[in-house]
Amino acid sequence: MTHIAVLGSTNMDLVAYVDKAPRRGETVTGREFRTIPGGKGANQAIAAARAGATVSMIGAVGNDAFGPRLRSTLEHSGVTTDHLRTVEGPTGTAHIVVDDEGGNAIVVVPGANGTVDHLVPGDEGLIASADALLLQLEIPLEAVLAGAETARAHGVRTILTPAPARPLPPELLDATDLLVPNEHEAATLTGIADPFAAGAALLDRVPRVVITLGAAGSLYLTRDAEPLAVPAPRVTAVDSTGAGDTFVGTLAVALGEERPIREAMAWAATAAALSVQREGASASMPYRSEIEAGYT
Ligand code: ADP
Repeated sequence: MTHIAVLGSTNMDLVAYVDKAPRRGETVTGREFRTIPGGKGANQAIAAARAGATVSMIGAVGNDAFGPRLRSTLEHSGVTTDHLRTVEGPTGTAHIVVDDEGGNAIVVVPGANGTVDHLVPGDEGLIASADALLLQLEIPLEAVLAGAETARAHGVRTILTPAPARPLPPELLDATDLLVPNEHEAATLTGIADPFAAGAALLDRVPRVVITLGAAGSLYLTRDAEPLAVPAPRVTAVDSTGAGDTFVGTLAVALGEERPIREAMAWAATAAALSVQREGASASMPYRSEIEAGYT
C-alpha cells in the first residue's frame, strides 16, 4: 500500500450557504450553516486515505471543542493522527461562503496551525518512511521548508500545493518534485496569466508541474516532453470547496501506485468531479470504490 505523509493544516470549516455572496458592506441572509472538517492538509490526507493509501497527518489542533472533532474525523477516514499535536488555544478555522452556483470565498484564521513552525522528534522518521510528502501553505513556511528538505534528504517525493498563493523561497521550490497550483496560484507565482506559459516558467524551478483548471481539467508540464492536457468529467458542480485537495490527494495515491501520469490525472479528475457534486470539503471526498466505479 502507498504510504503518504501530509504536513499541513487542520481547520474547522464554518460554512454559510447563500444565494449570492455579500459585497463589502452588505449583509445577506444565508440558507444554511454547517461546521465541516477542513484545512488543506487534513483535506488532502482524507482524500488520499479514502483513495486507498496509508496516510499519516503531521500538524496541530487546538484544545477547544473543534480539536477532538477534527482528530476523530481524520481517524474515521483512516488517517493516523499520532503526529497531530494538541496545543493551547483555538483550532484553525476557515470561514466559507458558498453561493448557489457552487462558487466560494474563504477567510482562513490559522489558530493552532500557526504553531506548526518546525518539525518535532518523530516527524522526520515518519517522513522518511513515506512514499510521498504532501505540503501546502496553511502552516508557517519554515515547517513546510523543513518538511520538504527532510523528504528530499530521504529520497521521498514531495508534492507541493502552493495555496494560499504567496511568493515562495527558492529553497522550497528546489526541494519540490511536483508542484500542483490551480491556474490562479500559477499566475500569482509567475505573474503570467496563461497556464501553459506560467507552467513553462515554473519548470525553471521544479521538474514537474500539474496546473488544475477547474472544470477545464488539468495540465501536466515537464522539462523533457510536450505539455499534456487531461479533461475533467462534465458534471454539475454544487460546491467546489476542496476540489483541488481531492485532486492532489488522489493524484498522490495514483503516482504512489506508479500509474502513468495521464492515468493518474484522469483518476484524480474523476475523484474531484465526484467531490464537486456534493457539498462540503472533506465530507464530499469519494472512497476508492466510488472513484473506480466512475473512472473510464
Ligand atoms: P481549486 O479547488 O484548488 O481551486 P480547481 O478549481 O482547479 O482547484 O479544481 C481542481 C480540480 O477539480 C480540477 O482540475 C478538476 O479536475 C476538478 N474540478 C473542479 N471544478 C470542477 C467542475 N466544475 N467540474 C468537474 N471537475 C471539476
